[in-house]
Order: sequence, then C-alpha cells, then structure tokens
Amino acid sequence: MTTVAAYAAPAAKAPLERTTIERRPVGEFDVLIDIKFAGICHSDIHQARDGWGGAIFPMVPGHEITGVVAEVGSGVTKFAVGDRVGVGCMVDSCRECENCRAGLEQYCLQGNVATYNARDKNGDPTYGGYSAQVVVDENFTLHIPDGLSLDAAAPLLCAGITTYSPLHHWNAGPGKKVAVVGMGGLGHMGVKIAHALGAEVTVLSQSLRKKDDGLRLGADHYYATSDPKTFEELRGTFDIILSTVSAPINLDAFLSLLRTDGALVNVGAPEEPVSLNLFSLLGGRKTLAGSGIGGIRETQEMLDFCAEHGLGAEIELIEASQINEAYERVLDSDVRYRFVIDVATI
Ligand code: NAP
Ligand code: ZN
Ligand code: ZN
Repeated sequence: MTTVAAYAAPAAKAPLERTTIERRPVGEFDVLIDIKFAGICHSDIHQARDGWGGAIFPMVPGHEITGVVAEVGSGVTKFAVGDRVGVGCMVDSCRECENCRAGLEQYCLQGNVATYNARDKNGDPTYGGYSAQVVVDENFTLHIPDGLSLDAAAPLLCAGITTYSPLHHWNAGPGKKVAVVGMGGLGHMGVKIAHALGAEVTVLSQSLRKKDDGLRLGADHYYATSDPKTFEELRGTFDIILSTVSAPINLDAFLSLLRTDGALVNVGAPEEPVSLNLFSLLGGRKTLAGSGIGGIRETQEMLDFCAEHGLGAEIELIEASQINEAYERVLDSDVRYRFVIDVATI
C-alpha cells in the first residue's frame, strides 16, 4: 500500500479537508497514475453532501482525472510510463454481462464500480481524483490525445462524455435543432460538442448573463427560461433537448418545446423527484429519456473527437484549499465553466 495526500469530506455537509489515503499495490493489469488535474463535477457536491443517499465517508471525490503514468503492472499492454492518461467515472465493471460486452460498462448489470463513493470487488471503498495518485486497471484508463492539454481535458472525462454520448445516440448533427438546458460544466461541453457535430444549437439558461459566452462557444441562439415568452416563442422547435440541470425542472414546459418525434434527454441528477403530466408526451409522440456517462470505448472516441475539433473545457484552475469555496460557487450557478483542481497543491 502507498500513502498519498488527498482532500476528503469527513462527513455529509462537513467541509472538505486535507488528509491521506492508502492506494493498493500496482497489480498485474494496473497503472499507477500521478494525478495532475481533477475537475469538480456537480455530482461531487451531491455526493459529498449525501444528497443522493448511501454516501461512504470519508469521501475523496473526483471523477474527472488526468495525469501521467508513473508505473505499470507486468501484464499491462496499453500504457507505458510517461503516457498522458485520464480516468472518468468508473474504475471497474463485471466485464461479462451483455452491457459490458457491448461497451456499455456504465450500465453493467452487476453495477459498475464508481471511481469514488463505491466499493471495489474486494469491498474496499474507492477514492477519487482529489488525490496525488491513483491505481487503476488499464481497461478503465483512457489515452489523452496530444492535442489536448491535461487541465482542459480533465472535465471531458465526465462532462464531455456525459454530453457526447446522448448527442451521438440521438443523432445530433446537420439539420437537427438541439437545445442545451443549463450552461454549467456539462452544458457548456454540450454546446461545444453539439456545434462540432454540426447541429443548430440553442442554449436555454435561467438568465442571459452568460449569453456572450454561449454564442462564443458555438451556440446559434440563447434564451432565458425565466422569461415566459421563451416558452411561447420556441414551442415545437427542437429535435433534441439535452437537460443538464442539477435541480428539478418543469418537464412539461420543456417537452412543449419539442417537435413531433423529438426527444428530451435528461442527464441532470437532482436530489428530489420531478413530476410529469403524461399528456406532455402524447401530443407529438415525444420521448423522455435519460443517459448516464458513457462506456470506455465511447469515452476514448469522445476524447479523440474533442482533440480533432480542439474542444477542451473552459476552466478555472484552483488550488486545493479553494475546493469548498468552489463548491459554493457551483451551487450558485457561478461557474465559468468548470473548476479544475491543480493537484500539485494538495
Ligand atoms: P453545474 O456546473 O452546476 O451546471 C448545472 C447548470 O444547471 C447550472 O450552471 C445552471 O445553468 C443550471 N441550474 C442550476 N440550478 C438550476 C435551477 N434551480 N433551475 C434551473 N437551472 C438550474 O453542474 P454539472 O456538473 O454540469 O452537472 C449537472 C447535473 O448533471 C448534476 O445534477 C450532476 O450530478 C449531473 N450529472 C449527471 C451525469 C450523468 O451521467 N447523467 C454525469 C455528470 C453529472 P444556467 O445558469 O445556465 O441556468
Ligand atoms: Zn461527473
Ligand atoms: Zn457487466
């Protein structure tokens, strides 16, 4: 075991503080990664505050990890010391069920092993990227292409794949009108990726405060959902609506903005349930769907796509001592557009 520095939440709603954790020895198929950067996802906040229930403390959040390989196990074939690598939201799965075999490890029928706030196959708690090093099986490690810097690439490991996967699955592309609801960490990547895929992109944000940024990142249109006229003007407009909102939304109102056969795909994970009037789906044969992160193969495809199109995240680099302050700013929708921890400061 190796002792490494980390930032952890000691209990629900307690501030994160510096601590140490143990990492397992490097096994035959493992890579040891010197972590350089870790993004702060809103899911880190939901979990560190036990908003979803079942949290395991102390908790070291972080599932948007980039770094450099420091050591490889004797059986590792995909990575070498010095490689630039990433780790996202999962570090293992059963590898045998139909979903794992189809490259959909995120939907593993045995449940995937999350990067933190979970238990690995030995029953030990997993600890995430707010830490100096991590040991990960090579099959759950990604290559960061040369064209991407490690700091701007970190958020791609969750925010990037969580928006790329549904946009791809629901065929966002030329001739399609895509709305992205919420312009935070996920939303701003959704805008960039939908634009790069060739779709006509509209941002639906609570206000017009971030309009200039939205248009610069690739949106064609930008509307405030606080203005009731938005819902009249845009009725029946979109083929795909991707909701990234971290709080409950008015599904019926957003479904009214879909064209016939359109799909509202939700990736937000609010702590409270939402209500739905099923009539909102009947008129117009509409789909309400959800999507969770993406498989390992698709995550590599997304990283390669982002490198090809020059799509990193817009980041605000912070020191580890600023994590608690950053959490408050994310909760206030005051993030432009992802906080990334410089792990050297832990
Ligand atoms: P974020 O950076 O906080 O962005 C969320 C955005 O939603 C905010 O910037 C804000 O955008 C909007 N918003 C927040 N509160 C709102 C409210 N009360 N009403 C309306 N809009 C509101 O969070 P994130 O990291 O992108 O994560 C978003 C959600 O996705 C979280 O719930 C997270 O847990 C979840 N998530 C899911 C997956 C998955 O696999 N499905 C993966 C990662 C994250 P505006 O200021 O533009 O309105
Ligand atoms: Zn995340
Ligand atoms: Zn499986």
